[in-house]
Amino acid sequence: MKNTPIRIELPTIYGMQTVNSFLFKEPEPILIDCGENTEESWQALTKGLADNDLTIADIKKVYITHTHTDHVGMAGRIAKVNGAEIWVSDKSHDYVLNPTSYYKIIRKLTIDTTAKLWGEVTPDSPLIKFSASMEKNKDTWVDIPKELLKVYKVGDYLNFGNENWKVIFMPGHSNTQTIYLQEETKKMLSADMLLSVTPTPFYELTGGLTGERIKGLPIMLQSYETLNNLDFSVAFPGHYDTITNPKEIISNQLAHIHKRKLQCLEFIKNGINNYQDLYPAMYNRFTFPAITMLVGYLDLLVGEEKIHWQEDEKSIRFEAIKLTV
Ligand SMILES: [Zn+2]
Repeated sequence: MKNTPIRIELPTIYGMQTVNSFLFKEPEPILIDCGENTEESWQALTKGLADNDLTIADIKKVYITHTHTDHVGMAGRIAKVNGAEIWVSDKSHDYVLNPTSYYKIIRKLTIDTTAKLWGEVTPDSPLIKFSASMEKNKDTWVDIPKELLKVYKVGDYLNFGNENWKVIFMPGHSNTQTIYLQEETKKMLSADMLLSVTPTPFYELTGGLTGERIKGLPIMLQSYETLNNLDFSVAFPGHYDTITNPKEIISNQLAHIHKRKLQCLEFIKNGINNYQDLYPAMYNRFTFPAITMLVGYLDLLVGEEKIHWQEDEKSIRFEAIKLTV
């Protein structure tokens, strides 16, 4: 198909295993997202471009959908090779200027919020080890030279493959996330808003390190609604294969989220009143996306006034709200 984005799959050190970079060759070679900065990822991008008779030095622009390191990390390194412009949305701009703050935020939220949720946390608890390993991954995000950083806005049209793609804001997984919609041909570059697996909300703060934790899952549900109202038939996602049945996937994922939220409520109604006991009831493995997703289910239940959230200096507990007639 003419003007179809060319998918270059790159390895990632994160749980998704791979991340997609999309190449358009016309009117000039550009990439949508570019993987994180590791040698493996650089080699995979070099090879993916060579398969299309290009080198990294040929890339004129890189557009970033959202500021997670597996999507933006290598951009600064590409820019330094050949002066490629790195285009980010107005939502991403502040983050991109200061990637270190991203790791500080993850660390702060992991230690403050999750430690409180988890009850007592010792230096060898998996949470602390996990946040330390996240900090070690700082090198996977290369600073972007300021003079090469360009900003597009939500609502703008961008030209990829000689077609115009509308920028649409889709927060939830990341509060900086944008997707791109080609309205005439009904194609979407869907970033991590629409994947074959249900996306999870990532820990983020409202502006700066002193901000409040953003309730990502309720925001993500609003984005699903926006997404569902858009007219498109094929999605090129940030991870995994092209999606040709987007509406079916959206409705399955919404049903899954709803079902898991109700399971969570059942456990709470049956007397589980803390996260430390709720987590193993809901999941059998320790992963960061599961940690933040479960916080998301709790946020939804609080929003629906199904549970009370009780937080003090040291801990967070919750209980089901009983219906009084
Ligand atoms: Zn991603």
